[in-house]
Amino acid sequence: MRLDETHDPARKSWIESANEPGCEFPIQNLPFGIFRRKRSKEAPRGGVAIGDRILDLAAVGVKTGSTLNRLAAAGGTARKALRALLSRALSDPKQKKRFAKHLVPMAQAELFLPVAIGDYSDFFTSLHHATNAGRMFRPDNPLLPNYKWLPIGYHGRASSVVVSGTPVVRPSGQRKPPETPAPSFGPSRRLDYEAEIAFVVGPGNPPGKPIRVRRALDHVFGVVLLNDWSARDLQAWEYQPLGPFLAKSFATTISPWIVTLEALEPFRVPAFVREAGDPAPLAYLHDEADQREGMFAIEIEMHLRSAKMRAAKMRSARLSRGNYATSYWTPAQIVAHHASNGCNLRPGDLLGSGTISGPAPDSVGSLLELTMGGKQPIRLPSGEQRGFLEDGDEVIECGRCAREGFATIGFGEAAGIVKPALVVQSVA
Ligand code: MN
Repeated sequence: MRLDETHDPARKSWIESANEPGCEFPIQNLPFGIFRRKRSKEAPRGGVAIGDRILDLAAVGVKTGSTLNRLAAAGGTARKALRALLSRALSDPKQKKRFAKHLVPMAQAELFLPVAIGDYSDFFTSLHHATNAGRMFRPDNPLLPNYKWLPIGYHGRASSVVVSGTPVVRPSGQRKPPETPAPSFGPSRRLDYEAEIAFVVGPGNPPGKPIRVRRALDHVFGVVLLNDWSARDLQAWEYQPLGPFLAKSFATTISPWIVTLEALEPFRVPAFVREAGDPAPLAYLHDEADQREGMFAIEIEMHLRSAKMRAAKMRSARLSRGNYATSYWTPAQIVAHHASNGCNLRPGDLLGSGTISGPAPDSVGSLLELTMGGKQPIRLPSGEQRGFLEDGDEVIECGRCAREGFATIGFGEAAGIVKPALVVQSVA
């Protein structure tokens, strides 16, 4: 752990809301995003979340433009210096006069995708999720033989990554239940979410030049929450032999605030402890320091609020709570593996963790697992039942890091409401 004065739990901000217990954005967090005042003609620009405010980064002379890609490209040393400067500015009461005029209340702000995402890849790093999902398709042989040798992933779709609050239209596609001889085309009947986090790539690598696992975290800017919306019926029919395609490319929701690696420093934990008999990672995936403290303990919760619950002003219901630390592969390993063939990662690229499921029944990150493929529906506080998502359902992902002796930090949320499928004209 590399701690400095920006992690000091005793440090307070002159913005009172940042010091309140339960605040997601205390001065120890300082995540970056892109914002503008609602209903304004202002250009979207970079800001840092502090309490219930956003500080315009222009206040410290940083002109980001409408994405944080340049800040991502600048790398860890520049980012650390900016964090130290922001931490001092927002904690020293003498700076209040100078900076207060650059604050915008979050309630009055519109938030955008924090980076322009050139490429998005999604991994499958939770052993529990891989085992649970594999068991549904292959009861005797849930885990394929490559799983413990390499971090499994696929190339996702960057064009449909949206920021929290964007509605998600139910996808249509080919559905073929096992009992029918031929598929039909229509709205998905098995729409699901996946609780994930994603790493936003920092500087990245030129084509042909791999990234060493030892240096891999130098290429990570920070972490956002990610909901990989998935149409299970489309997926089951299309996924062999080339993997997910239209079942996942219709929408992926991320949270607007990038929590930096520096903010996550106090929450480092050891890598997954492999069972005796598991293969040791190959040399290009192995680093002592990474094994010792290359994982991050990030609690992830999924909540659901149906249209009926919203109308009755009921709170959302928590469906699960898991922890990223239970994943089999570390972020350094997925970065090193992704670049190991010479594939270039670019600033702002998104690397999803895969569904985060833990060993406990209430720690699984998808309805597929929670309801056993829809066979054991869950009951909502409104009395409704869910096997998969219904139109009008809002899925809300949130996350936090908490550790004795440190300030608790939050991630904001990645939320979206499911809208009805668009009517598809049949072609004669
Ligand atoms: Mn996924």
